Amino acid sequence: QWGELKKELLKTVGSHNYKNWIEPLELNGVSDDGVATFSVPTSFLGNYVSREYGDLIQYQIRSLLPEIRRLRFQVAANSAAKPKVPASTTSQPAMIQNDGLMPAAPLDERFTFDTFVVGKPNELAHAAAKRVAEGGPVTFNPLFLYGGVGLGKTHLMHAIAWELQARRPDLNVVYLSAEQFMYRFVQALRDRKMMDFKQVFRSVDVLMVDDVQFIAGKDSTQEEFFHTFNALVDQNKQIIISGDRAPGEIENLENRIKSRLQCGLVVDLHPTDYELRLGILQSKVETFGQQYPELEMSQGVLEFLAHRISTNVRVLEGAMTRLYAFASLVKQPITLELTQDCLADVLRASERKISIEEIQRKVSDHFNIRLSDMIGPKRVRNFARPRQVAMYLCKQMTSRSLPEIGRCFGGRDHTTVMHGVKRIEELRAQDGQIAEDLELLRRTLES
Ligand code: ADP
Ligand code: MG
Repeated sequence: QWGELKKELLKTVGSHNYKNWIEPLELNGVSDDGVATFSVPTSFLGNYVSREYGDLIQYQIRSLLPEIRRLRFQVAANSAAKPKVPASTTSQPAMIQNDGLMPAAPLDERFTFDTFVVGKPNELAHAAAKRVAEGGPVTFNPLFLYGGVGLGKTHLMHAIAWELQARRPDLNVVYLSAEQFMYRFVQALRDRKMMDFKQVFRSVDVLMVDDVQFIAGKDSTQEEFFHTFNALVDQNKQIIISGDRAPGEIENLENRIKSRLQCGLVVDLHPTDYELRLGILQSKVETFGQQYPELEMSQGVLEFLAHRISTNVRVLEGAMTRLYAFASLVKQPITLELTQDCLADVLRASERKISIEEIQRKVSDHFNIRLSDMIGPKRVRNFARPRQVAMYLCKQMTSRSLPEIGRCFGGRDHTTVMHGVKRIEELRAQDGQIAEDLELLRRTLES
């Protein structure tokens, strides 16, 4: 039958493409759950065929063997014995997998519910994801997850996909980013395969589109997305969407799409808090512990990191990776000191940023003058001194340059700023009152 199919494919793709890409494929077998496995000589070829011809092959193979739901391309082992197709879907090389008619994006094996740490900031999103992952009747459609970068949106979506694959292998679950959606759409337009495109997306049982904000402002993609969305909702198929902010706040997204996205359940992932960060760090310690059994991480270091590193979990993970690698390289225990050394730049970057404007406001409040007088041209001492104090604090507490600071003070020259900073440095040494003012201001600014 594969022979027949190959003949069909030869007609469709032409002899040149056929020789390069289709000829080398061998059908190994079809598993009980409808996965057709092909052996390919190299993973490059597998990837290429999956991407470029996956839809076509699947489409044609279905006319002969309708039970096939998925194609898999496996690099042929050198031995004559062909590897037997594993029945489980979790052990395949994700990179050369072709999900359904539409090659979905590969799923990250680490992003499961087991590895997702639940805390106050994400408990609602987690509960909603769990519910959808049960694969029961559709209760809210779509599920819209939103939150800042690195808070676990993609992780949760992959977790849903993994769980659905395990619980409901009969469902055609497709996960992809909005960017990939656009790419496929544009490709279909270019290759005049819009009918295929529509058919493929409309035969999905569960559709997940990650980072939907990407298609904002891309009009024809939005249009197609809207139709796909409606077609699936009409068939009562589950849709899960993520974005970096609430639907109503995504700029340049069509209103009809916004209101569609708000129809189901909208939940947000809040920035992580101290407890959640500590929990995530602790779970990472277990994972890293297996890789680096010789290294121990003290609770003190974990607490320090949970306090000091920003809310983005990706940054937290990166810091841990670097810390373990560094400690193992220099063969030293992970102490607080080593942590501060190794992560100096990360720690600095996640320090609270103080703005020039904030300093100007606090200083003018402190000296009881108006902000406009601080920035304005008047040189009377009542204004000039606070102005110099503010310039000094800007130099001390921000990383802005003298010319930048000057510009924020009504377009003053950098030499004026330099002079002001110097003056305050001198006064600070001589005048107890100024020293006290500076200390007080610094503390309120840092709090
Ligand atoms: P987003 O898609 O929201 O930008 P990701 O899902 O890619 O964020 O998460 C970034 C990284 O942080 C991933 O490695 C992910 O596994 C991890 N992560 C985020 N939230 C959690 C959590 N609650 N528990 C464990 N790991 C998490
Ligand atoms: Mg993401």
